[in-house]
Amino acid sequence: MRLSDDFLIQVKESNDIYDVVSSYVPLKKTGSDYVCCCPFHSEKTPSCHIYMATQSFYCFGCGAAGDVINFVRLYENLDYMETVRFLAQRAGIPMPEDGGDDGARARTRMLEMNREAGKFFHRTLFSPEGKKGLDYLIGRGLTERTIKTYGLGYAAEDWDRLKQHMNRLGYNDEELEAASLLSKAKNGKRYYDFFRYRVMFPFFDVRGNVVGFSGRVIGGDDTRKYLNTRGTLVYNKSSFLYSMNHAKNTKESSLILCEGNLDVITLYQAGFKNAVATCGTALTDVHARKIANLGFKEVVVSLDSDEAGQKATAKAMNILSNVGIQTRILKMQGAKDPDEYIKKFGSEAYRILLNRSESGMDFELERIGRGLDLDSTGGKSEYLRRAVTLIAGTPSPIDRAVYIAAAAQTAGVARQNVELAVEQERKRQQNRGEKKERSEMISGSSQRDRINPEAKKYPAEVAAERGIIAFLIHSPDYLSRICEKLSPEDFPTEYNRRLYLEIVAAIGSGREVNLTTLGLSHSGEEISALARLIRENNELPYSAERLNDHINKLIEFRDKKNRKNAGSMTDDELRNLADRIKTIKE
Ligand SMILES: [Zn+2]
Repeated sequence: MRLSDDFLIQVKESNDIYDVVSSYVPLKKTGSDYVCCCPFHSEKTPSCHIYMATQSFYCFGCGAAGDVINFVRLYENLDYMETVRFLAQRAGIPMPEDGGDDGARARTRMLEMNREAGKFFHRTLFSPEGKKGLDYLIGRGLTERTIKTYGLGYAAEDWDRLKQHMNRLGYNDEELEAASLLSKAKNGKRYYDFFRYRVMFPFFDVRGNVVGFSGRVIGGDDTRKYLNTRGTLVYNKSSFLYSMNHAKNTKESSLILCEGNLDVITLYQAGFKNAVATCGTALTDVHARKIANLGFKEVVVSLDSDEAGQKATAKAMNILSNVGIQTRILKMQGAKDPDEYIKKFGSEAYRILLNRSESGMDFELERIGRGLDLDSTGGKSEYLRRAVTLIAGTPSPIDRAVYIAAAAQTAGVARQNVELAVEQERKRQQNRGEKKERSEMISGSSQRDRINPEAKKYPAEVAAERGIIAFLIHSPDYLSRICEKLSPEDFPTEYNRRLYLEIVAAIGSGREVNLTTLGLSHSGEEISALARLIRENNELPYSAERLNDHINKLIEFRDKKNRKNAGSMTDDELRNLADRIKTIKE
């Protein structure tokens, strides 16, 4: 479906950029505008600016930019039509009759399939056939109420129980396979249920949609204990957090991060409704940013107490602190995970543990000492070296003082010595940090190269191409002047040539050309790049003189190319060329 430009602009204008962005990230006022820590790259000092007058955003760190539609599109990782539909709904504007928006339709249909499958699994759990599954869950200490809250279910042992049910509802095998509900046999001829003989844990997103499942095997010969939905249109394990739909509503400022679904559910039942888990993957940057963007300030890491769990804990702390989230570590003794701990010692014991949990720093200070002989000189100095690096990275001066004292005591040296070493290390880290920030700024321009790979080859001409495109967007009246002197082939890079043609065609048919109307035919990154192009060019006046410079640059390039090819020209072409060069020189 082709939405009219007027409709797009109406949607954009009905969604104030401040209202929308501030519902995702906290904004800080600066003058008449706002800044925030950019949700599109990791940073601790805000470099993403929200401009009220132009209703646009611009990140000086990573180059993400554009209008309110592009913000939501990049943030929610939606396609353009889905974003427009979402914002139209938000502003109460009815969408024009739906035509052929395939991406959004496929997603909606996949969510419907998942919801139907979830309902089917849930019904089966409470049928005679699901008894094994229900016995298992009750054996794990879950009440019927909890089982219902989490919509748990059962996938029977047959090969095609779900398939038959879903086929009857009108879903075909191909789309069920795409939703990771069916598998295709190796010979490619037969489809069978992806989940069999398993207790089913549906994955709900924060809006309450079922986006996937995890199945815990309870019989049969499949050796995989847990099986999760493969990546699909609606499920991505690197960003999904189990039970975030509940945690988000607790209004708590901290989260408990566990390893398994059952830990989360046991904690919920014991009154800790802010527990979440990653599914089938360790915590990623994307998870961390999502946690920060949902407004959580602190994460209590409560992973398994085995060696692998401890390693994962150290990693998770690092990732979380990169986005400015405080961490504490919950250390369990006498149980391997929260589920077992609560069963053995009760929820009050867990609460005490939670309140007493160490700061991430205590955990790390202890961890770096492991395996070192702290009675030997070598062991002591290695411990101090590691401790100093660690403490220097702690932002709060009070915390630093506490840890300096602790490290000095562990190593048996004077506190002042450690303090001095930490200060020196802090200066070094700051220098490095500034360098890193600078290199991230530069990577903004390498992003431009990714969108237009030929840009590196013709730097001067690309600047002219970009200038001309900016002129057309800013003052479409220049169209005839530009077209008189240039033909599309005079644009050296293919990407800009196509963009130029698109804009020329749009202006020619009387359409308005801006980031909003161009959104449909360009990706979110391309819109960011276009916003940067406009911004760069806005710094100078849009004068006829500047436009001529750009045009001449491209003509010069064309003539140079033509001279190279002159050997293969006819006499007429050569004479034409000579005339043109003469006029330009004049
Ligand atoms: Zn950014």
